[in-house]
Amino acid sequence: MGGVNHFARRSRMNILIRNATILPMNATGGQPLHYEGNVGIEGERIAFAGSDGRQAEEFLSRHAGDCRVVEAEGKVVLPGFVNAHTHVAMSLLRGVSDDVPLAEWLEQHIWPIEGKMGRREVFDGARLGILEMLLGGTTTFVDMYPHEDAVAEAAEEAGMRAVVCPCAMDFRMAHFEEDWRRTRERVSGSRLVGTMVAPHAIYTLSEGNLRRAMELADEAGAGIHLHLSETEKEDADARERYGASPTAWFDAVGLFGRPTIAAHCVTVSEGDIRVLAERGVSVAHNPQSNMKLGSGIAPVRRMLEAGVNVAIGTDGAASNNDLDMWEEMRTASLLQKAVLRDPCAVPAYTALRMATANGAKAIGREGELGVVAAGRWPTCRSSTWGGRT
Ligand SMILES: [Zn+2]
Repeated sequence: MGGVNHFARRSRMNILIRNATILPMNATGGQPLHYEGNVGIEGERIAFAGSDGRQAEEFLSRHAGDCRVVEAEGKVVLPGFVNAHTHVAMSLLRGVSDDVPLAEWLEQHIWPIEGKMGRREVFDGARLGILEMLLGGTTTFVDMYPHEDAVAEAAEEAGMRAVVCPCAMDFRMAHFEEDWRRTRERVSGSRLVGTMVAPHAIYTLSEGNLRRAMELADEAGAGIHLHLSETEKEDADARERYGASPTAWFDAVGLFGRPTIAAHCVTVSEGDIRVLAERGVSVAHNPQSNMKLGSGIAPVRRMLEAGVNVAIGTDGAASNNDLDMWEEMRTASLLQKAVLRDPCAVPAYTALRMATANGAKAIGREGELGVVAAGRWPTCRSSTWGGRT
């Protein structure tokens, strides 16, 4: 737990960032998207962000002798990224299987290895993935995996914010309930880590087991994190089995009555998009994973136009093959431009909002994270949607 102590020491520090280009990510109306200015950080909170030099002088004199000054001319200050969907421990599986479709990739390559991974491997894989994310400017991630208590421990040790989501699947329901119990214990009182329940996907869960996962989420006041409409096969199978699209089926079962993050949403119809917008479901768009597995291109612009909160995730490193949110933003923007033959389809600033402010909204921290402004949290604090019971 040495890392936590280091974080606690760091978090009391005062920092003045001077002469930076600031992208606050909360500009409205005709406000400029960026400005030249200074940011003062007091302990864990942003004390001020602005272009008035007197604020910086006042901040310096208030914290004379106890303030680190960062000269940031030519550099940009922007909120940390929220990786809205990943399986961080899969850093250990990076590159184990390329050039195969999702079902084969999961059933023949990934699940057999994951079946041999215990808590120790998940902890080590999480540490590796967290290091990669921190180096790339990601300060929050939403994870889904077995042994999520180990992911919570790794995040706390690194001083990183996370929402860890134990994964429910038919063939491991007993393990899931144990993971959920341990994870809730682990994050109880955590300043950095919260939890949600993760029903894996429509093709890995019976209705009975889905209802059990919903029951556990409700008991804890926790949200839901799932895979939704990732492939055409998933969509076709759901229509054959249930006579409904995955979105329509989950809606009929009542899943979306809870705060929900749905990863992928590649094959959603216009009707599905309306449901997602009406129920306030956040979508985690994973363009590079969808490209690698040949799943398709999510209708991101349509979802944004319909009022769906679309965030960005990398998915696990095995289906990407990295956890780089810069690449993910670039791909998200370029794919929509190419497929819609419209260079304005998802502009750069929209992609940046998806990776910051929209990610914060997806985890219930809208306006609090994902924005550079007074009162916001530049570093870390506990997370989201219950779980801190
Ligand atoms: Zn995933």
